[in-house]
Amino acid sequence: MRVKCKNCLPKEGIDLPQFSQSEKKELTKIKIESGIKTVKVLMNQYGLSHLESKYIVTHINENYGKCNQCDYLKLDEENIICPKCKALNLNWIL
Ligand SMILES: [Zn+2]
Ligand SMILES: [Zn+2]
Repeated sequence: MRVKCKNCLPKEGIDLPQFSQSEKKELTKIKIESGIKTVKVLMNQYGLSHLESKYIVTHINENYGKCNQCDYLKLDEENIICPKCKALNLNWIL
């Protein structure tokens, strides 16, 4: 699916791959360790570009429901725009 974030480039957004539940878990776990490592995994294992990989990593939520850009705590869907700061949150339900 296509996801967009008004704060980030490219403005037209990117195509988000359909990650499986276990891939979402794994990527979140790696992001908590290291964002740079997660970018490398997305490039090497999923064949995404550097830009797409960075875009995805920026928007992965480390804690479900908590906005990755502000202090909003009540995000209740995946791939949601934060109602407070309008940033994209992948907010995966793990
Ligand atoms: Zn963004
Ligand atoms: Zn927010």
